[in-house]
Amino acid sequence: MHTKRLRRATSGPEWLPEPLVRPKGGYTGPMQPVDISGRMPEQSRNAALWVAVLGPFETNAYVYTPDGKNAWIIDPGLEPRAIIDQVNEAGLNVEAVLLTHAHADHVMGLSDVMDAFPGTPLIIHEAEADWPEDPALNLSAMFGMPYSGPKPTRLLKHGDEVSIGGETWDVRHVPGHSPGGCVFVAPGGGVAIVGDTLFSGSVGRTDFPGGNFDQLAESIRREIYSMDGACLCLPGHGPTTTVAQERSHNPFVRR
Ligand SMILES: [Zn+2]
Ligand SMILES: [Zn+2]
Repeated sequence: MHTKRLRRATSGPEWLPEPLVRPKGGYTGPMQPVDISGRMPEQSRNAALWVAVLGPFETNAYVYTPDGKNAWIIDPGLEPRAIIDQVNEAGLNVEAVLLTHAHADHVMGLSDVMDAFPGTPLIIHEAEADWPEDPALNLSAMFGMPYSGPKPTRLLKHGDEVSIGGETWDVRHVPGHSPGGCVFVAPGGGVAIVGDTLFSGSVGRTDFPGGNFDQLAESIRREIYSMDGACLCLPGHGPTTTVAQERSHNPFVRR
């Protein structure tokens, strides 16, 4: 995953997916572990995080467990088999599905995940409450594969907290790529799930409905660049990065 090329548009700050590559088996799996050792508080020493690159948009989907028992699924994109297999193989109980935002490439695996783990809560920012089930809002109609997913069960605001296995993560609202973009920050601030707001060497595109570049830049500076430089950022596409790396070297938004 770390060697994957990010192809940047020549016209502006946006991430463009690589051409569709379908590996044998129909999905990009199995999930790969992300090294978060030394980044979580002492009481979370059994925490583990995995990433899978899903579907034609090469969306990063994450599975996180604080304790080897409970898990979050974050941004289940198309063809989420790898996520379901990882959860089952690790014997995890899915506490909730978290969405950084509800663009099609982050939500189109929701139905498969909900079928595999019925009754799982679905959590998203209130500004995109209607998006998972609306093919126009989640842009799946525009991409030619209309998708209507489940309704969220919990709506977030900036400053809310999401809890799992005794841990509490902070919710930061980062509009700009989409109106309800959220960053989820781990206890201690060593790890952040940043969705399509910030990428390694790039930022989220702002030409979709509800996007706004000035707002995106402000969100990044206020909610991400203000964090500790060592914080590991887990984006919605492409490789991981750190706050310090992007603050100093991101070509689109500097501190
Ligand atoms: Zn997006
Ligand atoms: Zn995306």
